[in-house]
Amino acid sequence: MQEEQKGKIKLKPCPFCGGSGTLTAWSDPNGVISAHIHCDKCGVTGPFMKTIEDAADMWNTRDTDRRTQNE
Ligand SMILES: [Zn+2]
Repeated sequence: MQEEQKGKIKLKPCPFCGGSGTLTAWSDPNGVISAHIHCDKCGVTGPFMKTIEDAADMWNTRDTDRRTQNE
């Protein structure tokens, strides 16, 4: 786990409810990283990505790219 990197990632509020997103990342026995972000409030989850930066990117762009989802 890369705690220092996680601290640097800036997450926008949840695009659906405005709650705060939580980043979860781990690596499997082969060293492959899976990272995704979920909302603490409504539970929506972002896609699983291979880096925490990508996961944060996906989360931070959801409100503009996928506004119609769940509405
Ligand atoms: Zn939410």
